[in-house]
Amino acid sequence: MEDSYRHRGLRKKLVESIREKGIVDKAVLAAIEKIPRHFFLDSSFLEFAYQDKPFPIGSGQTISQPFTVAFQSELLAVKRGMKVLEIGTGSGYQACVLAEMGAKVFSIERQRKLFIRTKQFLQTLPYKVNLFLGDGNEGVAAYAPYDRILITAAAPEIPEKLLEQLKPGGMIVIPHGADDIQQMLRIIKNDDGSTTTEEHGAFRFVPLLPDLGND
Ligand code: SAH
Repeated sequence: MEDSYRHRGLRKKLVESIREKGIVDKAVLAAIEKIPRHFFLDSSFLEFAYQDKPFPIGSGQTISQPFTVAFQSELLAVKRGMKVLEIGTGSGYQACVLAEMGAKVFSIERQRKLFIRTKQFLQTLPYKVNLFLGDGNEGVAAYAPYDRILITAAAPEIPEKLLEQLKPGGMIVIPHGADDIQQMLRIIKNDDGSTTTEEHGAFRFVPLLPDLGND
């Protein structure tokens, strides 16, 4: 697929609109400006790739709205070299944003179809993202502990295993709630193992599902 002058121009405008909506983290804005989001969408949606909207990616899932990707990435306060676990790989776009910001990215997806498609697709990009198929509620114990954990689906509860797999001083960003609308939480794991929770506004995500998808 081609990344044309026109695509790059549209991306600059998208970054401008995200900045106007309040995102200030330069590494986040630079990553969104650099990564060709249209590569991650079905070809029938190409022209919509640079609108600030979520879009279907098949298997009943969506690629998050660019502002939401930026907002979660900013809240996560990622520094170069950090180990980040993402729950809900989907299209792989958010994982690439984190990789472009210098994180060592691990990402888990429950739907086999999406997992296989995204794994193949990411091989065509210059990012090394470690992908896993499984239930994100369990985390990925083999590579724990993580500096940061990002959940990109609505979670009715905060998965206990994810808290366990977080380093002391680490953070989880999670859209929390069982209803249509969730509260974006940032949970900081203190050195004594206790947690501090901050609320960062209302968002709408597809639900985190407990079991493995069979489609
Ligand atoms: N981060 C993605 C968008 C995520 S949409 C992107 O950048 O495109 C939410 C994703 O979470 C979907 O792909 C969905 O299949 C996945 N998901 C839902 N429940 C899950 C679970 N229990 N474990 C892992 N992934 C899950």
